[in-house]
Amino acid sequence: CGVFGVIGVTDAANFVALGLHALQHRGQEAGGIISHDAEQGFNSAHRFGYVRDNFTKQSLMETLPGSLAIGHVRYSTAGTKAATAIRDVQPFFGDFSMGGCAVAHNGNITNAMALRKELIERGSIFQSSSDSECIIHLMARSIQRNIPERMKDALRRVEGAFSVIAMTRTKLIGVRDPLGVRPLVLGKIGDEGYVLASETCALDIIGAEFLREIEPGEMVVISKGEVESSRPFGPSTGRFCIFEHVYFSRPDSIIGGRSVYETRRQIGVELARESPIEADLVCAVPDSGTPAAIGFAHESGIPFGMGIIRNQYMGRTFIEPTEQIRNMGVRLKLNVNRALVKGKRVILVDDSVVRGTTSRKIKDMILDAGAAEVHFRIASPPTAWPCFYGVDTPDRGKLLAAQMSVEEMREWIGVDSLAFVSLDGLYRAVGEARGRNAANPQYCDACFSGDYPVAPFDQLERGFRM
Ligand code: 5GP
Ligand code: SF4
Ligand code: MG
Repeated sequence: CGVFGVIGVTDAANFVALGLHALQHRGQEAGGIISHDAEQGFNSAHRFGYVRDNFTKQSLMETLPGSLAIGHVRYSTAGTKAATAIRDVQPFFGDFSMGGCAVAHNGNITNAMALRKELIERGSIFQSSSDSECIIHLMARSIQRNIPERMKDALRRVEGAFSVIAMTRTKLIGVRDPLGVRPLVLGKIGDEGYVLASETCALDIIGAEFLREIEPGEMVVISKGEVESSRPFGPSTGRFCIFEHVYFSRPDSIIGGRSVYETRRQIGVELARESPIEADLVCAVPDSGTPAAIGFAHESGIPFGMGIIRNQYMGRTFIEPTEQIRNMGVRLKLNVNRALVKGKRVILVDDSVVRGTTSRKIKDMILDAGAAEVHFRIASPPTAWPCFYGVDTPDRGKLLAAQMSVEEMREWIGVDSLAFVSLDGLYRAVGEARGRNAANPQYCDACFSGDYPVAPFDQLERGFRM
């Protein structure tokens, strides 16, 4: 998901709409905005579909007045697999004795089912099926006298991944979980304005200046042009999601002081060093494989070409919630550039293999178009474990790499060769010159390593074995 909030500007909701549009790659199912105006109080709008199809209408934006607003773009992750209902669309809102509070959450709460059960037993009435709603109910139960303190109470009970943006009548609040699994950045706009967003690309779109990242385990409370920082969870070292670098974030965003594009290009360089192959052409599976393909071509000296063309009007297959739609997605979205690939030995670079269905179909398409050989190079290690921290991966049983060796995968996909970047290669590409520190990994890489930085409580209860 993507989150965005702004304080201290006129018509804040318009800024939020733009910010969410820049974060649309993080969630395409639905979006919501809540604003606050001194006279008109809190107002909200929640809609299915793209930001641009909803939050551009003047008639809707006029209902969201005020100088303070937050928003959310949603895609559902494992555990909330049932079709999204409009009541699952964030931000959520809670009314407390000291005033209202709106909350937008990116990540996944790993003990949400346990918390929900406990809260329901104690009388909470849930409105949605979302794990994030726990935060509001935990806040309602807190005995603290102000909303930021209630939020701290609530989040201390929550496990897993959370980058949260919240707002009261007068304050904009941002929090990252102690591991800082999901991103969150702080920006400045105008004289008095501040912005919180999932990624820096959402600051760029509104012309805000990037100040810094919210740190793992940090809370910021912003009001009257002041940013107050605290550490509600005590000291912690981050384990940022390495897959944000590989796929999830936009290539024009800056994470940890590094350009995501440059990291992806560097993964391609590592791949070319680790798994070279003789060929005539390097192609990307667009768009997610493009920077790595450019890096691979550069390092190997084999020319880069656009052998696969993407229809710009289709969304990410990743985001499509059901398998059926996802299966159709590949052909609707990608087509082979026959004139270029005919007769050539082609290296295809993609970001990840999950179910393997994409790779298999692309291989069929490229062989149909007359390619002489097809070699797959993958810009991440084999995805052998599900993510429980807010990225949608299927059960282990559907992950190709959980079922097969690399050679078996090569045969199943039906290509001449297949290679994945090593975990150390990936770490080098994100700037860790000595690779992965096995005793104390610098990132979350559980979907590749099975090393889960937070025990996934609900999943273990349901019989998942780490
Ligand atoms: P699959 O192997 O499941 O057919 O899809 C892998 C390709 O689709 C990758 O190029 C990736 O960009 C995208 N993708 C589709 N679904 C998912 C998913 O659930 N998780 C991840 N990590 N990538 C996915
Ligand atoms: Fe990111 Fe993978 Fe960790 Fe999930 S399991 S947070 S996708 S690195
Ligand atoms: Mg892809």
